[in-house]
Amino acid sequence: MKKKYIIAFDQGTTSTRAIIFDNKGTIKNIAQKELTQYYPEHGWVEHDPIEIFESQEATFKEVIAFASIGIDEIAAIGITNQRETTVVWDKNTGKPIYNAIVWLDKRTNTICENLKSQGLENYVSKNTGLIIDSYFSGTKVKWILDNVEGALAKAQQGDLLFGTIDTWLIWKFTKGKIHATDHSNASRTLLYNILDLKWDKTMLDALNIPKSMLPVVQHSASVFGTIAIDGYHIPISGVAGDQQAALFGQGGHKSGVAKNTYGTGCFLLMNIGKKPFVSKNGLLTTLCASLPGSSIKYALEGSIFAGGASIQWLRDKLNLIEKAKETEAICNTTNSTDDLYVVPAFAGLGAPHWDMDAKGAIYGLTLDSGKNDIIKATVDALAYQTRDVLEAMIEESSTQIRTLKVDGGATANNYIMQFQSDLLNVVVDRPKMLEVTALGAAFLAGIQAGLWNKKDISKIREIDTLFSPQISENERNKKYRGWKNAVARTKSTTAPFPSTKK
Ligand code: ADP
Repeated sequence: MKKKYIIAFDQGTTSTRAIIFDNKGTIKNIAQKELTQYYPEHGWVEHDPIEIFESQEATFKEVIAFASIGIDEIAAIGITNQRETTVVWDKNTGKPIYNAIVWLDKRTNTICENLKSQGLENYVSKNTGLIIDSYFSGTKVKWILDNVEGALAKAQQGDLLFGTIDTWLIWKFTKGKIHATDHSNASRTLLYNILDLKWDKTMLDALNIPKSMLPVVQHSASVFGTIAIDGYHIPISGVAGDQQAALFGQGGHKSGVAKNTYGTGCFLLMNIGKKPFVSKNGLLTTLCASLPGSSIKYALEGSIFAGGASIQWLRDKLNLIEKAKETEAICNTTNSTDDLYVVPAFAGLGAPHWDMDAKGAIYGLTLDSGKNDIIKATVDALAYQTRDVLEAMIEESSTQIRTLKVDGGATANNYIMQFQSDLLNVVVDRPKMLEVTALGAAFLAGIQAGLWNKKDISKIREIDTLFSPQISENERNKKYRGWKNAVARTKSTTAPFPSTKK
């Protein structure tokens, strides 16, 4: 039987999925299970690692059973995962010693303050590409070792293992044979040196984490063991964290390619090529999904806290719309009021402003301003915030981009896509298949398995619509000046500016 299918495991924050792709990159079948969220204390978020594994195993079996394909037709498996979420388990019993601490969890803020007071901020940005923040895995590992009885001693005896979700799934699926991760996931731990591509001794010492806990780091497209099913052994041959997988799925193995995912928040990544550098604007430097035989590539990453979330705010708090998709027709039929701006700093202002004390604001209201104007200004803010981040990336990396590749729920809105293109003066490229994260993992696995080569990605990724800029330079500048002015007025007075700190 010809091996022509790839299965992508897409283990996300709210759900676990398995997706079958055929050799043309078309989805053959999807299986999905929701994931239980635990909030034991304010600011804490946990998952059950056993539930994560079992939901992945169940979706894997289900997706094959209902696709009517033979197991012998599956060439390989790719894994993409929620990044930074941390599991520590006992290698002898195979049991986690604590729940998975999710990336969103803030319990390690004090550990982060401690690292800062040791003067490690510059070291961290230079060597890990990150900032000292509770998001990343390192402080979560330390918390588990410090707070689970006997954990530190066990770790020092070499009995405990650490992994992000990819590593945990690989270890479980290979029945404890393989303890490994890929470059893209390792670069989110705060423990990995992105310059010399090794676990970083200074960070391990600062957090008192024994090196024996850490997985082997491999290329994203390489074999991470095999999964046994019905007498067959299917290789896991591609692994990448969700955002880097999405960049890869968008053709982002090439320098200068940028993608934006418009979800609840927005995630922008831009491949900046072979040379890393430290951002002055608090952008992160991270490792792209890696291929054996190709040089390691770096990406700049910036996120927008309130992306689609501000559309939900219009719907759920202001009751101005019933469904997100209504905003498209409203924006298309409402004349632009040049002076009205909504700055959705609901959770502070992120990159490149970094003002966590800022609160949201509306500027430019007159007696003529109606609900549709407010809706339009809120929608526009997705595009303005994207320009803020992308402009910082372009300026810092001296890399020009001609196209912005897009994915995520809000890309369904043609108005936003057109306005984004107008505002950036670049082409916005929306692919037909928006499951680019899973596709990225499938590409990595399929390339390693010999089903595809790098060049096939651009052939398989089909364009749905290209949005080209349609407004004048004058108009673009005027609108963006107005936005910058509104942002400047939204900043809290205490905010340092410019700042590299959160
Ligand atoms: P996530 O993966 O973060 O849950 P999705 O990629 O599913 O997000 O996108 C959902 C977000 O996109 C929601 O915040 C929603 O408000 C927004 N959204 C969905 N459709 C539209 C639309 N047509 N116009 C504007 N925003 C939209």
